[in-house]
Formats: sequence, C-alpha cells, structure tokens
Amino acid sequence: MTPDQSRLVETIRQRFGDKAVTTDPHDIAPWTTDWRGRFHGAAPAILSPASTDQAAAIVALAAQSRIALVPQGGNTSMVGGATPPADGSALILSLRRMNRIRALSAPDMLAVAEAGVILADLHAAALEQGRRFPLTLGARGSATIGGLVSTNAGGTQVLRFGTMRSLVAGVEAVLPDGSIHDGLSALRKDNRGYDLNQLLIGAEGTLGVVTAASLKLVPAVAARAVAWVGLESPVAALALLRAMEARTRTIESFEIIPGDSLALVLGHIPDTRAPLADPHRWHVLIEAVIGDLGEEPPAKLLERLLADALESGLVQDAVIAASEAQAEAFWRLRDSLSEAERSAGPAVQHDISVPVADMPRFMIDAASAAEQRFPGTHATAFGHLGDGNVHFHVRAPAGADPNRWYATDAPEITRFVHDLVVAAGGSISAEHGIGQMKRAELERLSPPARMAALRAIKSALDPDGIFNPGKLVTLAPARTAP
Ligand SMILES: Cc1cc2nc3c(=O)[nH]c(=O)nc-3n(C[C@H](O)[C@H](O)[C@H](O)COP(=O)(O)OP(=O)(O)OC[C@H]3O[C@@H](n4cnc5c(N)ncnc54)[C@H](O)[C@@H]3O)c2cc1C
Repeated sequence: MTPDQSRLVETIRQRFGDKAVTTDPHDIAPWTTDWRGRFHGAAPAILSPASTDQAAAIVALAAQSRIALVPQGGNTSMVGGATPPADGSALILSLRRMNRIRALSAPDMLAVAEAGVILADLHAAALEQGRRFPLTLGARGSATIGGLVSTNAGGTQVLRFGTMRSLVAGVEAVLPDGSIHDGLSALRKDNRGYDLNQLLIGAEGTLGVVTAASLKLVPAVAARAVAWVGLESPVAALALLRAMEARTRTIESFEIIPGDSLALVLGHIPDTRAPLADPHRWHVLIEAVIGDLGEEPPAKLLERLLADALESGLVQDAVIAASEAQAEAFWRLRDSLSEAERSAGPAVQHDISVPVADMPRFMIDAASAAEQRFPGTHATAFGHLGDGNVHFHVRAPAGADPNRWYATDAPEITRFVHDLVVAAGGSISAEHGIGQMKRAELERLSPPARMAALRAIKSALDPDGIFNPGKLVTLAPARTAP
C-alpha cells in the first residue's frame, strides 16, 4: 500500500468504522479476479460505504490524493470491468453494503434501489407488491443494480422491455470530485440540456459511482408459458419469431441455442435433461407472459402458434412446460450455457450484435469462416436472437495449451470475428460493455470522432483519470492488443 493509500484507508476506518474497510488479503482475494477467471488484479484495500454521504466523502478524499478507485458490485462482469489493475495502484470501491430498497411504489410503478441491491432481491421485493422489474439474466443472484446500470445490462427480456437504459427513470451518483448528482426524481419530461443520468448509464464506473437508481416496474406476471422448440436453422428461428410477433405481443424471451451447446450443458451441469426426445441442430426457448388474467392464457396461445409452425414445417418439434418446475428447468438449461462453456475448456467469447434481420445468416457464415481460418477450432453462437445479439464463442482445438492459446491465437481470432461484425454494420459489445477486455478493440474499430468524444467526456468529468483506470476509455489512446 502506498503512503497515500494507507492514510486514506486509516481516515476512512476512523470516520466510518471497521466495516467500511477491508485490508485482509484473504477477504480481498475473491474480488480481484473476474467471473471468468481471465483477469487477475490486486488491491490493497476494499472501501465499502454504507450511505451516499459516506461514498461522497470517500471519493472526495481519494480525489485529493489522486488515488484510483474501481467501483464494484457483484463482480459478474464478462469483460474484466470490475477487476482492479494488477499493480495494486487502485482501491476497490464496493457498493455491496448499500443494499437498501429505499422505496417501492406499486401505484407509481417505481422502485428506488441502492446500488448494492442484488437483482434477485429487487425481483422478490417487487413481487410482494404485485409488481415486476422486467430485466433478468443468469447472474441475477449476484449482479447489483449499480453494476446493471453501469453496464446498461440487457438479458433475456430486452425483446419486450428494452435494456437497462429504458428501465432507469433516475440515477443518483457521486462524481469523481466527490460531489453528489441527485437525478433520482423520475421526471417523465426534463429537457435541461445534457442528460447526466444517461451518461452514467453504461459508463462502466469511469465517470463516477452510481449510488442509487429509480427503476420502472410493470405488473407482476399473471401467467406465463415457456416452450422449448427444435428447428433446423437460425433462419427458421427468426421466421418463427416474426410469425409469432405478428399474432401476439406477449413474447418476452426468444433465445436461440445450438444443439452442441445444449449437449455441453447436459454434459457439464448436474441434474439437467434434454426437453425434446430427439436431438436437433438448433433450439429456441420461448417465454410468453401476460400481466392480466383476462387475456388468453399464454400456454394456450403458444400451443396454437406452435401447432401452426409445426404444420407449416417451420419447426420440427416443440414442448410447452407442463409446470413451473419444468419451466424453470428449461430456463436453467439456457442460463447454464456460459458456465458449461467455461467448463468445456479454453474459448474466446464475443458479445456481438448485427441488424436483427441479418443475424441468422451472420451466425452461420461467421462460424464457418472462423473455423476455416483457424483449423481445429469450434465456433458457435447462442443467445438473444430477437435482439440481434448473440454470444459468439470460439473454442480452442482439442489439446491446445490454454496459456499459449489465450496469448497468441485468441487475440487473432477476436480481431477476425470483430472485423466480420464491423463489416456487417454491427457492434463488438452488445450488452456486456468494454471493460478491459475490449478496450484496444474499441480503439481499433471506432471512428476517430467517436473516440475523441468519449475521451473528451472522460477528461471533463474525471480529469485525473481516477475512476476505473484502464477500462472502456482512458485519457490516452490504448496501445496494447486485447
Ligand atoms: C452467468 C452470467 C450471465 C450473464 N448474463 C448477462 C446477460 O444476459 N446480459 C447482460 O447484459 N449481462 C450479463 N452478464 C454480465 C453481468 O451480469 C452484468 O454486466 C451485470 O450488469 C454486472 O453487475 P455487477 O453488479 O456484477 O457489476 P460488476 O461486475 O461488479 O461491475 C461491472 C461494471 O460496472 C461498474 N460498476 C459496478 N457497480 C458500479 C456502481 N455502483 N457505480 C459505477 N460503476 C459500477 C464496474 O466498475 C464494472 O465496470 C452475465 C454474467 C454472468 C456471470
């Protein structure tokens, strides 16, 4: 710990007590490596404010000595976004103690949640009042509101409700000089110039620390139906979605899963079984939801729509979950894809989007181009087809040495895949953000005017670069390979 860091830590301990400071290396260790185990950082201390005022005081003190801070929530980032630098030059600023739901108003359809509230806890609290926060993802048991706001998270209900950006009504944050931005008021109309709330959403902790957010709620689920469908291709899958959307507005999730990824889940995740009797090249998981029991029951609706699709040959087989337990079992297969891929050996992941109509062809063409260009690899894509966003994974050839492969082949594969994405008019980060993993790629593939604007915003709000150094955008251009 540098003398300045040590002075800061002691001051915070004296002012806010022992709970506000962690310096035991054993307690710090789990928070210095990312979820995928790809990035290893170091931090001499974790600072944990219990309130917005404490967060503001900590940031002001750090700013005086130009001590770098890495905001952190559940540490489920897929891009090394919350992992501190390896040289120990930054302290982790954890929001996990700020985990109060300050207000939840069923009539106003709004909740005000502190940054450290875990997504699953918000879901439970909303449900108690007959409401729902309509964003969910596999990491819901750990991911926090602050992290979700700061990554503009997506998930499996974007089709109907949009990403975090469309669900956040207001943001409270501490800016890099220690001042508090109170933008929680949830005004429906507010045209006072630049929107600081919107700047903070998706800023990945580089413009300050989010301490709370006002969040839009919708009516709780009155009934839902979950179907598992086997079909021939992503083209058929998108045609199915379009055919369904023409006849109902209740489709909330439409996730595509290749047969080989399902096989990985069945092989690596205990107590899982295939929903359909025969193997299929592609699968989709569909969820239809109603918020009012006066509407057609979603199971009946899906049955009708899928029967038509079977008859027309668009799908090969389908099953509708007969119980909540079975619906959850279908979702578990989908939510376990990343974990199963992680257990299967070295792989390089790409969270990409292209225009929705182009995605089915892109998935097939890009996978075959990558496999041809890098012999022995296996490329596969799964995820949010209806949003034009898939997770495009390329697995290493059998027997490849992980360290060597990650150091040499993986960056080359990533550049190859990203070039295909950019040529297709797409984005190299659809929902996970840039973090440290994609910073050099963002620099390489962004128009200079865009990077200059990002840098100008960063330097205006954080001129000393103390917030989340080395992530998303830095004051000087990135030079290293990804
Ligand atoms: C199994 C699994 C499935 C996932 N599925 C999805 C998915 O479908 N869609 C999706 O979008 N993401 C997904 N993710 C990624 C991840 O869950 C999201 O990025 C989530 O938003 C991160 O929340 P967190 O609290 O863990 O943030 P962290 O990982 O702690 O931090 C993420 C970023 O936000 C910053 N940050 C965290 N808290 C704050 C704060 N209070 N103020 C300012 N900055 C902050 C960090 O500095 C970092 O840059 C998945 C992750 C896992 C492990």
